[in-house]
Amino acid sequence: MGDPLEPNYSRLCAEIREAAEKTGRNPDTVRLLAVSKKVSAERLRILWGLGHRLFGENRVQEARAKIPDLPTGGEWHFIGGLQTNKARDAVEWFDVVESVDRVELAAELHKRAEAAGKTLAVLLEINVGGEAAKSGAKPEEAQQLFQAVNAMSRLEVRGLMAIPPFREEPEEARPFFRRLREIRNQLEQASGAGLPELSMGMSHDFKVAIAEGATLVRIGTALFGPRAG
Ligand SMILES: *Cc1c(COP(=O)(O)O)cnc(C)c1O
Repeated sequence: MGDPLEPNYSRLCAEIREAAEKTGRNPDTVRLLAVSKKVSAERLRILWGLGHRLFGENRVQEARAKIPDLPTGGEWHFIGGLQTNKARDAVEWFDVVESVDRVELAAELHKRAEAAGKTLAVLLEINVGGEAAKSGAKPEEAQQLFQAVNAMSRLEVRGLMAIPPFREEPEEARPFFRRLREIRNQLEQASGAGLPELSMGMSHDFKVAIAEGATLVRIGTALFGPRAG
C-alpha cells in the first residue's frame, strides 16, 4: 500500500475550500496547518513536493532536528506548551508561536527576539473550555494578556488560538469556536488593533471551526494518519 498522504492532502484541501464556501467565506482565508509532530522529515518532503509550506510542531527539540531536513522557505508554527527555557530555540526555529498563554513567556520571547534582531509573530492561546488541565489563558484574562503582549515591540500579535475540549460530536465544539471569535472581536474593538488569525479546529472538527471563522486549521491525523505512540 502506498502512502495515503497525497490523496489525503488533496481531499482535505477540497474539504477546507468547500467548508469555507458553504458559509460564504473566501476559501483563500483558511489555511491548512499540517501538524507534523511525530511525522518523519521524509514524509514532510512529500508534502513539500505537493506545494505545501505550512507546518506545525509541538516540541522544540523534535522540530529543530527536522526543520533543517526540509528546504528553506517553509512557515513553521509552534503549537505546544512552551517552557521559558526553550524560548530562545523557539525564536530561532519558528515563524509563529501560537501558544503564548502568559506574560512571563511573552516577555522571554520578546527578550530573545530582540537579542536575535527579529520580530516574532504570536497568537495568544485561550482556554475557551475553562479546563483545569489545559494550557491557555483564561478568557477573562485575555484582555490583560493582550495589552501586555501588544506592548512588546518584538512581538506581533496576529490573533488567537484555542484547543477546545474534545467532543465526540464536532457540532458540540461550535460554542467554543464561537467563544474564541467573540473574544477576538472584543479585543479588536477595545484596542483598535487587527487580530485576523483564529487558529482553531483539528482533524475531526475543522469544518465547524471554519464555519465559525477559523483562518488556520491544525490538522495531523486526517492528513498523515494515526500517530505512533
Ligand atoms: C496534535 C495537535 C493537533 C492535531 O490534532 P489531530 O487531531 O491529529 O488533527 C492540533 N493542534 C494541537 C495543538 C496539537 O497538539
